[in-house]
Amino acid sequence: MAVRRSAAPLDARSLFGEYPFLPGAEALLAEPVSLRALLTDPAYASARSLGRARALAAADDPRASVELTELSQADPDVRFLSFLFARVVLAAAPTGAALRRWAVAEAKRNHARLTAVSAEELADVGRRLGFDLTVRDGAIELPLVEYVRLAVPIREADFRLARQELKGGKVLVRSERAARLIQEAVRLRLAVPVPLADDVVAEVRSGEAELLGELARRTPAPVGRPGIGVGALRPAAFPPCIRKMQRTLQKGENLSHAGRFALAAFLHKAGADFETIVDAYRGAPDFDESITRYQVEHITSRDGGQGYQPPECDTIRSHGLCVRDGDPEGPAGERGRDALCYESYLRHPLQYYRIKGGTVVGDDRERGADRATPSAEGPGRPGAPERSRSTARR
Ligand code: SF4
Repeated sequence: MAVRRSAAPLDARSLFGEYPFLPGAEALLAEPVSLRALLTDPAYASARSLGRARALAAADDPRASVELTELSQADPDVRFLSFLFARVVLAAAPTGAALRRWAVAEAKRNHARLTAVSAEELADVGRRLGFDLTVRDGAIELPLVEYVRLAVPIREADFRLARQELKGGKVLVRSERAARLIQEAVRLRLAVPVPLADDVVAEVRSGEAELLGELARRTPAPVGRPGIGVGALRPAAFPPCIRKMQRTLQKGENLSHAGRFALAAFLHKAGADFETIVDAYRGAPDFDESITRYQVEHITSRDGGQGYQPPECDTIRSHGLCVRDGDPEGPAGERGRDALCYESYLRHPLQYYRIKGGTVVGDDRERGADRATPSAEGPGRPGAPERSRSTARR
């Protein structure tokens, strides 16, 4: 991406062309464009084509990534319409997976520009996104509460509040750090689907069935490994902590190192194939394909493919990742207390998975050795704690 390094302010047309997600960017259009026209009018075919490329490139389609090179050469109004088209189509998708991936990709693409522009432009973009950024002595300051909101999902230690310069209730950051915070602000904005009427959703799903099918294929539901003697992967039987970790990454938010390890080790033991485990991390704001593959390989290949043992409940709890009390931000079924997690015998997420009907890799070998079932005499002990199966190995 060609980046302007001058400190001179961008005119409104250039600004909205560069940042089509900003409120008011529709001012780029000489006249209003109806949603129906954007979806079907031949006059907007090139905008639709670029919009499809934006969505597919975010889902790792290499052909679309090549097409996207045209984006920087397109007129600002075409860039804006392509952005709008992608946003509308992704809002109409049956699941939010592709939208979340796209939000992360668009935010990252803009980050590449934001790292090289003036502090004034950074602050301007941040303000237009609703954050109170101001330039002070070449650096950027923002209210503490806004800093925390934007920095929490960021994994790098340099963003911890304890490492920031605080002055009068404000946090002072250098431009590079402000650019990363704005990346997060963009992701948050784009991850929320635009509201669409039912007839528009139906029209988009019909007219863009091929695109939505390809996106669904590239953001698949988890699948189990073939030929390992276990049943199909059962995401509905995952314990609340694991489901919360998945949601965190799908939303493009940070998951701690401990959480990332626990998720990969759990998915492997639950029978997920390698690609499914890698896919679970694609929404991470710092996702890197080669590093993720290396780390998943490391976690899953130990002991001839048995992999690392996922941590016990006590360990997960000590990292603040246990959500047995419920997740207030989760879907309706997960906001309340999980009764099984409060059973005295429940000590391991894999134990939870077994009790809910999931099959764990290695059970064939271990079955009967230490797997108690509920007895008629009391609450029983369904599924022995993993601690008794093998020593946690890391
Ligand atoms: S009790 Fe265990 S299985 Fe349940 S949410 Fe907490 S860590 Fe996960």
